Amino acid sequence: MAEIIDGKEIARAIREAIREEAAALREKTGVTPGLAVVLVGDDPASWIYVRRKAQACEEVRFLSRELRLPADAAEGELLDIIAQLNGDDAIHGILVQLPLPEQIRTQAIIEAIDPEKDVDGFHPVNVGRLLTGNPGHVACTPRGVIELLDRIGVDIAGKEAVIVGRSNIVGKPLALLLLARHATVTICHTRTRNLPETTRRADILVAAAGRPEMIRGEMIKEGAVVIDVGINRRPDGGLVGDVAFAEAERRAAYITPVPGGVGPMTIAMLLGNTLAAARRIAAPV
Ligand code: NAD
Repeated sequence: MAEIIDGKEIARAIREAIREEAAALREKTGVTPGLAVVLVGDDPASWIYVRRKAQACEEVRFLSRELRLPADAAEGELLDIIAQLNGDDAIHGILVQLPLPEQIRTQAIIEAIDPEKDVDGFHPVNVGRLLTGNPGHVACTPRGVIELLDRIGVDIAGKEAVIVGRSNIVGKPLALLLLARHATVTICHTRTRNLPETTRRADILVAAAGRPEMIRGEMIKEGAVVIDVGINRRPDGGLVGDVAFAEAERRAAYITPVPGGVGPMTIAMLLGNTLAAARRIAAPV
């Protein structure tokens, strides 16, 4: 039976360390890390994510600012808010909760954020830095996955890593991070032929497709490390990952649960990016 990776506990320890580091920064420089989270519309799932981020900020004593716009807000209104936040010295991180309503161009918004305050790591400057091996802010979920692998002591170098999903926020940046750590990386997607054959090669298998329980036990190599990024809502309201947990647990060496695996790590990494941004502003190199 696989060992279950306790992302909740690992994330708690990281938040605790961040709280101490932020206190030391405040003591030394008078700077308190500040995160602004902008939400457009009233999607209930987005609202929950925004609340969780604000709560996490409070827990580590960051300054947290929540800004809300109505669902029919114009792109210009959001751009004005971002311009204000870019120029606000108390704010070190800016996060615009996605998805955005269709009248707003997501890419235009991402590109309007100052790359130094882009704590989501989605700005092309930060994506380019990651691609060229000189990372700035790195997307939080992929960073959280690497952190989990490090915490359980996986030696990534030389391993076969297979990622199911090629999104800009998870699959692609994670592939770059694993490559930088010398894994041999395969990215699978909806057009991949014979997915089970590919996933069975994986020493490290990451599921980030958003398809409930699509990774079955027989798709997993014995002794693999299985990281489940997927968060899917079941008809009864509960959450389920992209991995069929009970089957996978019998084959994997390590596995993350949903919830309590990657999810809490994402928020911990967001706090980490905000602290790093505050440090850079407090003591520019
Ligand atoms: P997305 O929809 O943007 O991308 C999904 C990717 O999976 C696509 O590249 C698609 O090609 C691939 N895919 C879909 N079905 C597939 C199939 N049957 N076979 C092979 N590939 C397939 O999703 P996303 O934003 O990357 O999120 C993926 C999942 O991760 C979602 O469940 C999301 O809720 C979750 N997520 C979790 C966190 C977290 O903090 N844990 C953060 C972000 C996203």
